[in-house]
Amino acid sequence: MSPSSETPPSPPPAWSSIARALADVERSPSVRLRGWVHRTRSSGGILFWVLRDGSGSVQVTARKDSLGPEEFEEAEHAQVESSVEVEGTLAPDRRAPGGFELKARSARVVGASKDFPIFTEQTEEFLLDHRHLAVRTREMVATLKVKSELLRGARELLDSEGYWEMTPPILSGNAAEGGSQAFTLDYFGETAYLAQTAQLYLEALLFPRERVYSVTTSFRAEKSRTPRHLCEYTHLEAEIAWAGMEENIGLQERLLTHMLHRAARERPEELRLLGRDPAELLALEPPFERMRYEKAIDELRARGFALEFGVDLGTAEERALTQERTAPIFVTHFPRGIKAFYMAEDPGDPRVVLGADLLAPEGYGEIIGGSCREWELERLERRMAELGIPQEPYRWYLDLRRYGSVPHAGFGLGVERVVRWVTRREHIRDATPFPRTPSRLLP
Ligand code: ATP
Ligand code: MG
Repeated sequence: MSPSSETPPSPPPAWSSIARALADVERSPSVRLRGWVHRTRSSGGILFWVLRDGSGSVQVTARKDSLGPEEFEEAEHAQVESSVEVEGTLAPDRRAPGGFELKARSARVVGASKDFPIFTEQTEEFLLDHRHLAVRTREMVATLKVKSELLRGARELLDSEGYWEMTPPILSGNAAEGGSQAFTLDYFGETAYLAQTAQLYLEALLFPRERVYSVTTSFRAEKSRTPRHLCEYTHLEAEIAWAGMEENIGLQERLLTHMLHRAARERPEELRLLGRDPAELLALEPPFERMRYEKAIDELRARGFALEFGVDLGTAEERALTQERTAPIFVTHFPRGIKAFYMAEDPGDPRVVLGADLLAPEGYGEIIGGSCREWELERLERRMAELGIPQEPYRWYLDLRRYGSVPHAGFGLGVERVVRWVTRREHIRDATPFPRTPSRLLP
């Protein structure tokens, strides 16, 4: 045969993700995929894999006579979580999940996996010790996808309303929320604190930009073990110039609703897998209910809690308040004594501050803490003196009240708290890939 009569060999198809390959199956059924073996089984010279990649999964069948004996044997010995490359043709198959299966022409093992230690029915402790591998489980993957969608929704809403994303520092010479929960470290012979909040820095940045936000890691040495406290969490914070209670609460309502709706629209399958009906999230619309702290105390007393005006609401109280609710609720006007020094006093009732916590329903409790900030120098200095807070480390912060101060307000949203509620996780550690708790710093 002369070279000219030969059909030139067609180049192999480009790598595709599983989701893309399935979406384009009519046009180009011949594909090359790479991913991980999720399940494997073989019988009578036919090998069945469920192949998983970052986008989805698909069933693969490989026959000994199309792969050749050597390649088939290698593929047959590939255990769960081996990474592989497969080339073949997608064909309709009624029994396959997704309606198609890949008939492989070649299947090559890239990275072997021997005795993957994660399977069902393992203890919580074991799974936490092997979290670096357990992040591949269906539930973790679904949770992380929902989390990422919530964050995307948050940025989308804030950007669309003219907020500027800022990058405040994590290391600081101030312990913004007070020293007791701050992690300290040696900073060239000085004491440095890991940020518990970005708020003070966002307050400085609102002067040039008016509307600012940040998504940073906050650190809190939380000694009490609760299912809603981590020692390291993702903190979404915003500060708004010229804003009062209403503007502050309004932004929180729009922000949270947008985040929830986006997750419900983009990740319905993942939410269902985790036990959350996306319709419940789509049904939530502002305004959310508001209740003064004093009224909340009355309601809790009626349920048998021994509470006085002036005590903070803990996990049990917030659970009782929200257990039977299906929508979030703002608890407003907390006593000054239980809130941070920078929260503005209510001119109508000096016992309380102009602040609000947003509590998630179904017993989950606080997801946002917000307030009007004390913006006048004298009042802020007086408050710090009352609480015995030294001025020296806060000199720069007090300067903000010296040079063109304006009324302003802001809030902090705990991203893992929202994820925990939305994905119905029992413990907040399952809302983050590598949880940091008092007893866990590895993996
Ligand atoms: P709590 O009373 O539940 O400890 P807080 O009053 O200390 O909360 P803020 O200082 O107002 O919380 O922080 C803002 C938000 O950060 C909270 O509404 C919550 O969503 C989140 N948050 C606070 N502490 C933690 C933590 N240890 N782990 C995860 N999220 C947290
Ligand atoms: Mg706290």
